[in-house]
Amino acid sequence: MKLENYEVHLPSYSIGDKIYDKIGPVCESYGKTVLVIGGRKALTAAYDKIAAHVAKTNLEIIGTEIYGENCTYQTVERLRALLLYQQADMVFGVGGGKALDTVKCLCIPDDKPVFSFPTIASNCAATTSVSIMYNEDGTFLRPHFFVRPVMHTFIDTEILAKAPSQYMWAGIGDTYAKYYEAMISSRGERLEHFTALGVEVSRMCRDPLLIYGARALADHRQGLCTYEVEQVALAIVVTTGIASIFLTKDFTPDYNSGLAHAIFYALTRYPILEERHLHGEVVGFGILIALLADGQEAEFEKIYQLNRSIGLPTRLADIEITPEQWDACLDVIPSMSDVSHYPYPVTRQMLEGAMAVLEERAVGGQ
Ligand SMILES: [Zn+2]
Repeated sequence: MKLENYEVHLPSYSIGDKIYDKIGPVCESYGKTVLVIGGRKALTAAYDKIAAHVAKTNLEIIGTEIYGENCTYQTVERLRALLLYQQADMVFGVGGGKALDTVKCLCIPDDKPVFSFPTIASNCAATTSVSIMYNEDGTFLRPHFFVRPVMHTFIDTEILAKAPSQYMWAGIGDTYAKYYEAMISSRGERLEHFTALGVEVSRMCRDPLLIYGARALADHRQGLCTYEVEQVALAIVVTTGIASIFLTKDFTPDYNSGLAHAIFYALTRYPILEERHLHGEVVGFGILIALLADGQEAEFEKIYQLNRSIGLPTRLADIEITPEQWDACLDVIPSMSDVSHYPYPVTRQMLEGAMAVLEERAVGGQ
C-alpha cells in the first residue's frame, strides 16, 4: 500500500429561503467588486433577489454578463478577456449546470474567488470541483477537474421551488445513479480512506430519493417548497457533489461513473436524445439496465417503481430510441470509458437480456 499525499477541499454551502442574507458575511472578506455571470433565464429568476441582498452589504455589483450558450473553452476565454472580469474581486455564478461549470472553469484556475447560486435542482455543478466541457458544436469534449470547488454555494430553496419541475425530475435519475455506479464499480475492493468515504456518502444519493422523491416532485410541480423538496434538492445539489469529489482520485473518475452513464453517452449519437431528453432522465433509465445486468433484482424493483411513479423512463420507447438504434450501441457500450473500471466485463448478452426484461415488463404493464 502506498502512502498518500493529497489535499481535499469540500463544498461549503448554505440552504434555505433566506440564505442570501449570508452573502455579506460570507463574501465580504474576498473584496468588494462583484461580476455576476449567469444564464439568461437564471438571471431573470434570481438576479433581483441577489441584487437586493447585495445592496445591504459592502459589496458592489459592477456588471452582469450572460455566460454564453454552452460550457466551452471559447466561452471561458471570451469572459476572461472582459475588462469587467479583470476589475472584479469576485464572481457570482448564477444558473444550472452549464453556466456554473463555465464560471468554475473561468475563475478557479485564475484563483479568482467564485460563488455559485444554483437556480435549478438538476445536478451537482454548484458544488463539484469539475466542469463538463463541450465542443463548439455542442458535443461532449471532456471533464475538466480543479483542485477545489467554488468558495461557497447559496442554495435558495424559494428560487429552486419556482424552477421548471422537469429539472428536478431528471436530477433524481442522475442522483440515485451515483449510488449504484459507485457501489458496483468499487465492489470487491479494499478502498483507501478517500474513496471509501465517497462510496459511503453516495448512499445518501439514493435513500432520500426513495423516501421523498415522489412527494417532492408532486410538491415541486405546484411550486411548493416543502421539507421533501428540500431533502431531494440537498441530495441532488450537495450530496452528489460531495460524493463526486471523493469518488474522483487523482482526476481519475474510476468510481464516479458506470454502465448507466456509458449507455447515456453511447446514445448521444442520436440527436433526438439531446434535443428532447434530459441527461438524468436517460441515466435514470440506464440504471434499470445496469441493475438487471448486475443481478440486483430487489434494487431494480425499487427504482423501477420509483421511475413509474414519477414518470421517469422504464422502456426504450420512453426515450424515443428504436430497438434497431439500441442494437447498434451494444458493441460500443462495453468499451466506453465509463465501464473501464467495473467488476466484470459488460457484454452484449447482458445488455440484450436486461432490455428483454424491461420490454416484457412494459408489455405486461406492471
Ligand atoms: Zn450524470
